Amino acid sequence: MTGRVELPPALVDAIYAAAKASLPRECCGLLEGVREGEAFRVQALHPAHNLSSDDRRFRIDPADHLKAQKAARANGRAIIGCYHSHPQRQAQPSAADAAGAGEENFLWLIVGEDGLNAFVYLDGGFRGCVIDAD
Ligand SMILES: [Zn+2]
Repeated sequence: MTGRVELPPALVDAIYAAAKASLPRECCGLLEGVREGEAFRVQALHPAHNLSSDDRRFRIDPADHLKAQKAARANGRAIIGCYHSHPQRQAQPSAADAAGAGEENFLWLIVGEDGLNAFVYLDGGFRGCVIDAD
């Protein structure tokens, strides 16, 4: 059973816009929302500075991470995942993504040349999720 992601269309558009604006580098940010069993309900994006010096990687600025956590908590929610882009590459987790992942039951949204895909990091690996953008 794969997880399900509720993602409002306005947030889908915002992720695509961020990916375009950051070219040729990867964009990145955090996802605020709630987890309900196997489902993730994304309610807000928190764009973050990408501190990586490599155009094919991202590293979220820890100060932005802290700010996002405080904002989410103030809304009675949590940071449930992250998003980033893969310019001119597939929307699949890279080896660098796997190396950088660690938080269990964390949602990963990746936008690439083939679209937007969702994964949950669970038991040391990425599993595909279904995006429900209604
Ligand atoms: Zn990546």
